[in-house]
Amino acid sequence: MDHSKKTYYTVCPYNCWPINCGISVTTCAGKITEIKGNKYHDFSKGRLCIKGQSCGEIQNNGHRLLNPLRRKGERGSNEWERISWDDALDIMAEKMSRNINNNHREANGIYHSHGNIVQRINWKILTPRFANLLGMTLWDGNFPCWYDVGVAQELTGYWGLHDPVEMGTYAGGVINWAQDPCASMANMVPYILQIKDRGGIVVTIDPRVTQTAALSDFHIRPRLGSDVYLANAVAYILLKENVFDKDFVQNHSFGFDLYKTHMSTFTPKKGAEMCEIPLSEIERLADIYANVKPLCTNLTRGALGKHWNGVQMVRSILCLIALSGNVGVKGGGGVWGEGVDWNLKLNGAVRRRKDIAYPPNNFNAIDHALETKTVNTLLVVGGNPLSQWPNLNRLRRQLKELDLVVVFDLFMNHTAREAGDIILPATSWIEELGLRTSNTHIYIMDKIIDTQGECKEASVWMDELAKRLGVTDYFPWKSKEDCLNDCLDSPACKGATIAKLRENPGGMRANIMDVPFNDFVFSSKSGKFEFYSQKAEELGLPALPVHEEPIEGVRSTPELAKEFPLALISARRNTHFHSFHNSHRFNPTLDAVEPEPLLWMHPKDAAKRSLKDGDYAEMFNRRGSGVVKIELTTEVSEGHVSLNDCWPELNEVTQSISAVSPHVTDALGLGGQPCYQNTLVNLKCLRRPKTPFKKGVSGLP
Ligand code: SF4
Repeated sequence: MDHSKKTYYTVCPYNCWPINCGISVTTCAGKITEIKGNKYHDFSKGRLCIKGQSCGEIQNNGHRLLNPLRRKGERGSNEWERISWDDALDIMAEKMSRNINNNHREANGIYHSHGNIVQRINWKILTPRFANLLGMTLWDGNFPCWYDVGVAQELTGYWGLHDPVEMGTYAGGVINWAQDPCASMANMVPYILQIKDRGGIVVTIDPRVTQTAALSDFHIRPRLGSDVYLANAVAYILLKENVFDKDFVQNHSFGFDLYKTHMSTFTPKKGAEMCEIPLSEIERLADIYANVKPLCTNLTRGALGKHWNGVQMVRSILCLIALSGNVGVKGGGGVWGEGVDWNLKLNGAVRRRKDIAYPPNNFNAIDHALETKTVNTLLVVGGNPLSQWPNLNRLRRQLKELDLVVVFDLFMNHTAREAGDIILPATSWIEELGLRTSNTHIYIMDKIIDTQGECKEASVWMDELAKRLGVTDYFPWKSKEDCLNDCLDSPACKGATIAKLRENPGGMRANIMDVPFNDFVFSSKSGKFEFYSQKAEELGLPALPVHEEPIEGVRSTPELAKEFPLALISARRNTHFHSFHNSHRFNPTLDAVEPEPLLWMHPKDAAKRSLKDGDYAEMFNRRGSGVVKIELTTEVSEGHVSLNDCWPELNEVTQSISAVSPHVTDALGLGGQPCYQNTLVNLKCLRRPKTPFKKGVSGLP
């Protein structure tokens, strides 16, 4: 056996864009001896947050699924027997072929997400290819995550995809609008500090005092859901003071006059009243948008998209970015989303069949398809609906009524345990060859160690299943490397091959524009930045950004607020990333840091309920209830409570409707996530302290 040490380069499996922190893995005799940050990585330069540092705990984890399993008892009884891959695939083929033979291919559904299937190529290419060749309904894990932001961008025609190095090097300031990089995407923080070190300004807009807010020069705490008023009041001042980018407006925008008239109704005085902040804070923010050049607005994804009015919030901010002259400017821009793979012409992709009426990819449509059994078999690939989707009681029942539920994962997650019939064991991030892309770079994720137990790559078992169902050309390549090279054969990836990527441990820059939108060509109907959105008008949406109160809120539903007076913020903290690895609980390091749902609560709100720091309390509304541990802090304002998202036991108290109306999501071909930031709750002290979970991973199912 070769006992020499070998070092491989890969990226963190937690899928944070746009950083994708680099990791180096050293092995000896096929065993991992060290996992650490990759100092050659262009952005992360060897730094890893606690999630990245502990990602080595995923592989040799006693809770890993290592063999296919079949349910023995009732659904949800958590009794399993080991079966062979052949038996598992035969059972699946038998159930799925019924729908195919009955001419209802779309009744075979697949929900795929990036939870464990972190290899970009699986998520973006190979799983959709499998579903499309078989005519299956395909639901993409993006729908619970960020599509409102996508809709807003689609309506303006603007996707500002900049990279963190550019921001750190050129921005004169950054506005973290509803973003907390210290908790999520920690490797953005050095670039924010770089701006500060150069004398630039750092602003955070967040109702909570986050770590990012603490390092900022200026922190605005608007009322939850009032962001349209804040952005539009700033626009009002820029327009009134005549300090906007006239060249951009004249040459590269559409509908400016209508926008200007519309903005005249958003006076700063009204903005201050609606946002519940001093007028001076709006004036100071306007001064920053008018005078700091270039100014980057860090929107990333997620936070604003979890609001009922998230699309309008993001649109109003995108308009502000354009108005202040920060579009197509190095160090400016507005959105830190994913990028390169929008430009990849990946050859492995297969288009969906047009002869099938697929249930769309948004929450309302999925709910309807499950309720009516339009979809009756469901393959869950790298996702965990019983952690991520709302209205869990209903979803739990719907899943249990399906003909077949198969879960492919690293661990026995909530969905597998409660609704699964067949469980398939997945390879982890370093047991298969793959790729990842950021806004600007392409990275290899190499196969570093042997596959554990009987785990298989998704594309391997999908090929075996496809053949059983009569599709023989799902995986026409001789090897995974051939497949990936074929996928990389596109203008955006010019020159990149697996061999070249192995030679470039810091990743390879994609062949894309240096600065997004510096050609001022926008993906809107007019080809310009649309202050007035023609697409929105066609879809029956407001063509200009408007404020709408949350569907539940102290102002919008005052009667309900008497019963449930606290507005719940569903936030991200640095120990969670969605429901990865069963909501982090199979990672001992992360589990030890936050083993229970901690609810931030203002001391005055706690005193009204006789709650003390460390108490357990029942959090409830009319939809459901769950147990939380109280953490007293003034970092959340009175009337608000804040909880890390992805605690399945508590999802029942969150909203159960899509934040974007289905006709919009269907028309745009985008998903529509459930909105979380519109939930009113109340709390009561549990008379006897009760531990909601046993401590540590041993308390897991
Ligand atoms: S910030 Fe943390 S979780 Fe995100 S990619 Fe980097 S190491 Fe991974």
